[in-house]
Amino acid sequence: MQRIGVLTSGGDSPGMNACIRAVVRKAIYHNIEVYGVYHGYQGLISGNIEPLNVGSVADIVHRGGTMLYTARCPEFKTDEGQEKGIAQLKRFGIEGLVVIGGDGSYQGAKKLTEKGFPCIGLPGTIDNDIPGTDFTIGFDTALNTVVQAIDKIRDTATSHERVFAIEVMGRNAGDIALWSGIAAGAETILIPEDGYDINDIVNKIQRGINRGKKHHIMVIAEGVGNADEIAARVKELTKSDLRVSVLGHIQRGGSPTVADRVLAARLGARAVELLMEGKGGRCVGILNNKVVDEDILVALSNKHKIDHSIFKLASEISF
Ligand code: ADP
Repeated sequence: MQRIGVLTSGGDSPGMNACIRAVVRKAIYHNIEVYGVYHGYQGLISGNIEPLNVGSVADIVHRGGTMLYTARCPEFKTDEGQEKGIAQLKRFGIEGLVVIGGDGSYQGAKKLTEKGFPCIGLPGTIDNDIPGTDFTIGFDTALNTVVQAIDKIRDTATSHERVFAIEVMGRNAGDIALWSGIAAGAETILIPEDGYDINDIVNKIQRGINRGKKHHIMVIAEGVGNADEIAARVKELTKSDLRVSVLGHIQRGGSPTVADRVLAARLGARAVELLMEGKGGRCVGILNNKVVDEDILVALSNKHKIDHSIFKLASEISF
């Protein structure tokens, strides 16, 4: 393999830049040229592709976002779109492609590989919802952002003796809510993987008030439903001074944590090795602190699962 490409696709996440840097530097270390594909699959179709050198990825390891930009590209879901992409890759003499993104981006990488162009998928998303890996690049940074925000909300919740419902991201996964909730000592955590009983929440708040608690923090994953509606029902039943805070896109930005930077470096480097070994159609992840790879098709057929033991633990230590 003489020349590879790298792109970021779908929702961005902190650590994507550290991952691009690792791919570029690892390839150059092994005398392989690297081209950057800008704006995800959209840029692949239109040929928005440029060579990257050692200096192109200088000074980005600590920056959130992605220097290659990202996009959603419906055209790439079609055969014509994918064939246009392959034609562009051939035009630039690129022989393998590293795709950093979520499960949608993995689908695109799988399609290219099926059409004979080797691609490797790397899990870049804050949601931690990609199968084949314990953690995705950006999850840890998002968690730290959320926990900092909850710590601040807790201060004002205590001062005013309020209940707070805090909505966090995660698409259909409850990982951000669960991990941030346990780290911030939230009394209630609602995740889409588990149902909830509004009366349990109401009773818990009441018990807390009875023993003199000054606040009650509910962390609600966006996949559970509308936080305003859930909060309105809780407010009505408890007659408490309840406020809602939707954290929003703040969770997608910021300087990546050490954990995300190191994960990005390890996974990015492995992607290059796989292409050097002539392998495509694989996704790379981390399982039990070991870098692993598996067939993208197999990974996508296994749904990501939440760790229910952590969910149980959260309810045992925060009430
Ligand atoms: P994420 O990668 O974060 O899950 P999306 O689901 O939006 O984000 O997917 C990103 C892009 O990947 C899409 O805009 C599209 O270009 C490509 N993609 C998604 N699904 C497919 C598919 N089934 N086949 C080919 N490309 C796909």
